[in-house]
Amino acid sequence: MRVLITGGAGFVGSHLCERFLADGHHVIAMDNLVTGSIANIEHLLDRPDFEFIHHNIYHYINLDEPVDVVMNFASPASPSKTAPTGYLQLPIQTLKVGSIGTMNALGVAKKYGARFMQASTSEVYGDPLEHPQRETYWGHVDPIGVRSVYDEAKRYAEALTMAYHREHGVDTRILRIFNTYGPRMDLNDGRVVPNFISQAVRGEQLTVYGDGQQTRSFQYVSDLIDGIMLLLDSNENYPVNIGNPNEISILDFAKVINKVTGNEAGIVMKDMRTEGDPQRRRPDVSKAKEVLNWEPSVSLEEGLGHTIEYFKSKISE
Ligand code: UDP
Repeated sequence: MRVLITGGAGFVGSHLCERFLADGHHVIAMDNLVTGSIANIEHLLDRPDFEFIHHNIYHYINLDEPVDVVMNFASPASPSKTAPTGYLQLPIQTLKVGSIGTMNALGVAKKYGARFMQASTSEVYGDPLEHPQRETYWGHVDPIGVRSVYDEAKRYAEALTMAYHREHGVDTRILRIFNTYGPRMDLNDGRVVPNFISQAVRGEQLTVYGDGQQTRSFQYVSDLIDGIMLLLDSNENYPVNIGNPNEISILDFAKVINKVTGNEAGIVMKDMRTEGDPQRRRPDVSKAKEVLNWEPSVSLEEGLGHTIEYFKSKISE
């Protein structure tokens, strides 16, 4: 198959490129490199079955040849208040890529009769009132809150995807990704995993925002990629959560990171939570189990081991 991966130079996108290539497909990675990086795909650039196109998908997407699959993974994704690549610093670009960009990507799928997958997010649930979050929950999002630029862009992308499915019969998939970590996360994107690991590796205090009682559930990237491939192969047109249901408070997560890295600098509490920072987040993955026969298999200890190695080598570079 010929596969277009938008956001192909990003954290998740680059792992997807590798998986499709390993499965014998031809990959076209498209990225505007605002949050993605050539370093993530440098090792693939010389392959004859791999192409990179430097393009912003909110401008018309023009391909020379048809594709069989469109994976729409382009978007800023970090809610950091300070990192330059966080979506709070790129509010209009984030809205444009989720709306016009998704429309262009869907247009490609419609034109070639390609299967389409939309990378959505647990953020469609906002600061959820239902816990854990099932796919049937409609969410709790402030449409004018600062995080709405990401949350509403992704909600709109889901709406567009369903409309192209219903009106044009495009064979669509919607994937709701929960917090994912692993090698090729941007060291400087301000999210909790790169922040904590880089602080720990440098022997600094870990910055816990607020009282640290907010929770997240962290999934290792290879589990996500397995779930994506199973969803693509399935017949499920409605959203599916892919995440690890192992919930942990941010304070406890900081303690785990200090322990596994042997960091003795401890923790510092900071008043840095963004408006709308969800208090609790944990996926209900029973649908993924039932429909895809998928469940996460990589433990936090194992996944953190690989991730810490990666960040150590990046920091020493
Ligand atoms: N967080 C933190 N310290 C940091 C970065 C983030 O305590 O250095 C907290 C943040 O306030 C949030 C959680 O960790 O409650 C996860 O934040 P992240 O930016 O990774 O993404 P989110 O899950 O909110 O989309």
